[in-house]
Amino acid sequence: MKNIFKNFAIFFLVFAIIAAIFSFYSNQFDQPEEMNLGQLVQEIENQQVKTIQINGDELNITLQDGKEYLSKKENGESLITLLNSYSVPAEKISQIDIKVGEEPNSGIMFSTILPFIIPGLFILGIIWFMMRQVQGVNNRAMTFGQSGAKLADQKVKVTFKDVAGAKEAKEGLEEIVEFLKSPQKFIALGAKIPKGVLLLGSPGTGKTLLSRAVAGEAKVPFFHISGSEFVEMFVGVGASRVRDLFKKAKKAAPCIIFIDEIDAVGRQRGSGLGGSHDEREQTLNQILTEMDGFDNQTNIIVLAATNRPDVLDPALLRPGRFDRQVVIDMPDIKDREEILTIHAKGKPLGKDSNLKMVAQRTPGFSGADLANVLNEAAITTARKNEKVISQNTVLDSIEKVMLGPERKSHVLSEKEKKVTAYHEAGHAIVAHYLEHADPVHKISIISRGRAAGYTINLPSEDKKMTSYSDFIDDMAVLLGGRMAEQIFFKEVTTGASNDLERATAIARSLITQFGMNKKLGFRTFGKKEEMVFLGKEIHERRDYSEKTAEEIDQEISEYIQKASQTAEKVITEHREQMEMIVKTLVEKETIEKEEFEKLVA
Ligand code: ADP
Ligand code: MG
Ligand code: ZN
Repeated sequence: MKNIFKNFAIFFLVFAIIAAIFSFYSNQFDQPEEMNLGQLVQEIENQQVKTIQINGDELNITLQDGKEYLSKKENGESLITLLNSYSVPAEKISQIDIKVGEEPNSGIMFSTILPFIIPGLFILGIIWFMMRQVQGVNNRAMTFGQSGAKLADQKVKVTFKDVAGAKEAKEGLEEIVEFLKSPQKFIALGAKIPKGVLLLGSPGTGKTLLSRAVAGEAKVPFFHISGSEFVEMFVGVGASRVRDLFKKAKKAAPCIIFIDEIDAVGRQRGSGLGGSHDEREQTLNQILTEMDGFDNQTNIIVLAATNRPDVLDPALLRPGRFDRQVVIDMPDIKDREEILTIHAKGKPLGKDSNLKMVAQRTPGFSGADLANVLNEAAITTARKNEKVISQNTVLDSIEKVMLGPERKSHVLSEKEKKVTAYHEAGHAIVAHYLEHADPVHKISIISRGRAAGYTINLPSEDKKMTSYSDFIDDMAVLLGGRMAEQIFFKEVTTGASNDLERATAIARSLITQFGMNKKLGFRTFGKKEEMVFLGKEIHERRDYSEKTAEEIDQEISEYIQKASQTAEKVITEHREQMEMIVKTLVEKETIEKEEFEKLVA
């Protein structure tokens, strides 16, 4: 777009200069008065004409009194014949000094030709301009098959120091760094250098960051491309991009190629009905072909990242391809503190700052979420025009990241406020008194995101496993809100629908996924399959009978039933505490852990 304007500007300037020259010339050229042929004949008859200078078909007439006139004759016809035809007497003609100029003078030529040249130039210019446009489109069409892989900025070096936690993953990748740094050491011993490493981990756990760190540690170039960039509208483009990418990489070897979201192209072949399916297959084949084509001297290592290892094509995982796999776990409490420490660099934290406490309150947060928490805190602080980030701002940001921003404008009516307070108090009371439920951290009736209010109950330590009793109590906590509404208002609101959905999901997975139900036994039900049809869809294939399906439904209802009974019992037994919590909530809108524990004690 910028180019178009530039071209046009240049063209316009040239045009303006020509126009200026033209007007300059024509001004200099003081044109004498015009005289038509009739008048000329008259003047000749009166013997007033002294000389006539003929330049082509132009006549410069000078009269006896020195006045000059300009006239024109027909092209090609001689002046004499013309005058003869006007029957001007010959002796009168002979008195005139007639001079015939060889050529029209240059000024005249300029003024006659220029009007033709300028539109001509103008048209030529437009044609040239349009040609360039068309060429531009062509050029762009030609880059279609190029990879568009970005060579990462070499100045911002990421090293393993910038990645907190992920100890095992780092150890696994340490080896790759060695391969890149000194391949000869391994080749001398006849070892085959791995070609591909697959990084597995949930979104935001630092897969991209770690691969950058590998390149940074080994001091090699880093080519970054995302799987979804291969999938274009036209079949074959993906494959040609792969070819181009590997060609570029071979020139830059030793180097790292990082393919992000490889599941976008590396899905099991033959699954899915979508239109881009052929294209994916071709792209995947091309990646495999290129990787197979490396000889042992080609020092390129392909790192690929995915959070869906289950959908990958087995061909990708064969020896000689992505045979090495590095799993990156969600950070545990210690890792979270380290990640927070890394991201707190350059952010002035207040004296009360306590990153350990933040780490405690953020189970289930990925590295990206934690980075986001501190960033949100910094933004909030800047907007409040404060100089240091206080601990409270950081803690608030946790909720902001978890549940969305507060909706202060979403004002609840008195009645709604009360219902919400009872609902949240219900969750909190049940969570507090049930042995296996997670302790309450905060209760609030300020709307956030889609929730009217919220209760945060978090495990006191990171849990890797969940027991049957945990599930049962979790369901009761989820139903606590609804039961509180039922007990105190004798009717329920729509506010509980999300709780119900989650409780039902827990009940279902208890039976079908974890085999924890006594009646249905120790087995799984249903197989998850991915169908790619006009987008994505998880499709469950039934591998059980109609009768079993009925039984599963019954058991789910039973679990929900029991959970509501448990919740009801806890709430009716602790009515006093409930009322106290509700009163405080309506007054203050939020209750922190310490105050809550005092209230229920
Ligand atoms: P992924 O590729 O796994 O989705 P990224 O590598 O893009 O995740 O991580 C996103 C951001 O989260 C990183 O840029 C970094 O700021 C932060 N992050 C994630 N994990 C870590 C970690 N272990 N240490 C430090 N920062 C991390
Ligand atoms: Mg990533
Ligand atoms: Zn609820």
